[in-house]
Amino acid sequence: MMQVPLLVGSLLEHAEQFFSKKEVISQTHDKLHRFTYGEIGQRTRRLMSTLNELGIKNGDRIGTLAWNHHRHLEIYFAAPGMGAVLHTINIRLSPEDIIYIINHAEDKVLFIDEDILPLIEHIHTHLTTVEAFVVMTDKAELPDSTIQPLYSYEELLSIGDPNYEFAKDIDENQPAGMCYTSATTGKPKGVVYSHRAIVLHSYALGLVDTAAISESDVSMPVVPQFHVNAWGTPFACTWFGSTQVMPGPRFTPKRLAEFIERFKVTITAGVPTIWLGLLKELEQGNYDTSSLRAVLCGGSAAPLGLIKAFEEKHKIPFYHAYGATETTPLVTISRLKSYQQNLSKEEKFAERARQGILVPGLQMKVVGNNGEIEWNGKEMGELLLKGPWIADEYYNDARSDDAFIEGWFHTGDVVTVDEEGTIKIVDRTKDLIKSGGEWISSVEIENAIMAHDAVFEASVVAIPDEKWQERPVACVVLHEGLEEKVTKENILAFLTPHFPKWWLPDDVLFFEEIPKSSVGKFLKRELREQVKARYSPQG
Ligand code: ADP
Repeated sequence: MMQVPLLVGSLLEHAEQFFSKKEVISQTHDKLHRFTYGEIGQRTRRLMSTLNELGIKNGDRIGTLAWNHHRHLEIYFAAPGMGAVLHTINIRLSPEDIIYIINHAEDKVLFIDEDILPLIEHIHTHLTTVEAFVVMTDKAELPDSTIQPLYSYEELLSIGDPNYEFAKDIDENQPAGMCYTSATTGKPKGVVYSHRAIVLHSYALGLVDTAAISESDVSMPVVPQFHVNAWGTPFACTWFGSTQVMPGPRFTPKRLAEFIERFKVTITAGVPTIWLGLLKELEQGNYDTSSLRAVLCGGSAAPLGLIKAFEEKHKIPFYHAYGATETTPLVTISRLKSYQQNLSKEEKFAERARQGILVPGLQMKVVGNNGEIEWNGKEMGELLLKGPWIADEYYNDARSDDAFIEGWFHTGDVVTVDEEGTIKIVDRTKDLIKSGGEWISSVEIENAIMAHDAVFEASVVAIPDEKWQERPVACVVLHEGLEEKVTKENILAFLTPHFPKWWLPDDVLFFEEIPKSSVGKFLKRELREQVKARYSPQG
């Protein structure tokens, strides 16, 4: 067979050829834009030609600090399309981490949304490699700024060449993108995506038994474009000619609900906290969400109560998926097999609350204390992965040796696997609670608590214990107005039928909010500190 490199630029070329009338609908700070793929293609070509003029060469890193919108999408194709590397930067990280990431990646150009410009003004003297800054704005005038040289995105496009060619002399294994994962300790770690990985991962998103993304979809990625490339959906949706709806900067649950109704969104993707927020909005407003055929939920465990609320109350199909920055990210998705349709309603929900089975193309191995575990749904071990869209190292980072061992990526996630091959994430290795020599899964208790009607969200952490080494404590946020009505005893009584006695939390603390990471996950390190402070208020 022919050896044809799998290249990211070819995904947009395909959309230009076959879906030139299909649209990208994009909310920016000032207005709602509608562009066809024909126009997006030309704008991307213009961008490549001006980047070329700015001196960008094969392999150079192009950083973005931006929300989900059409300009960000254009850079998704322009950077790899000319052989450079798209480096999406998480705008919610600390200024120190952002400085570290930009310098470590050696970004040459930064594309910045106008509302993020003040952040860069604050840190730009620490950036050692950036030669040009480009602000993305709808306004005719460039904002006043201390940053130099500063260009306007639309001005650059206006002088660019709409017929500029996508580079063809690219090796499919060369870097197309990169993203840093927020390590919970130490500096962020960089992951580099090859062209080949992104293209193969896009195929995976189109499979009927995964996300089944197709031309007829209207896709709204809520997961940020700076978080593992919005889970790769912009690449796949462009390739397949889906309509894309980009919700833009600082969106609210209200905007998401309105967009779903107005643009008849069929598929959307995000972390559980987003869906908790949307659920609240759906309960308050009167929205038509009947167009939705799939809500993809990943990034942290989707509580059973959340899945049920979407499916039973709102008739919205809800799919639980699992992945990581190192895995491009799709690894598993939870769908019932044909013969599992015979299960009872509750059994089906229980099955679908697990993270699902491995996407075709990947390999897995689960290793416990005594080697590979048995697939009996009980034994626990660490999930190891291998495959064409699994990273094999961190970018220029000695910590690679701890995670990439003998050809396997060690995820740091502890799982069980049942007879069907369905994995269930029990915890992160570092969050498991060790009580009297046995392991307690914080995630399982959290999910059980979140099934309580009065509970908005819950997180479980370990506190040190003299006798048992560690014991679980539940941190609970109640729905508004229920604070007076629900007690520690209520929560414990609710949990009692579901767990062995020694799994029950020693205490239930009520919070107004659970601290969250930059991508909306429970920040357990911070929560442990807050719990500690509750027990010894004066330090
Ligand atoms: P980080 O959270 O470290 O910034 P990632 O966004 O790459 O980085 O997170 C990947 C991790 O998120 C996985 O290793 C796993 O622990 C967790 N995760 C992702 N999806 C799920 C899921 N569906 N259920 C439980 N945990 C998940």
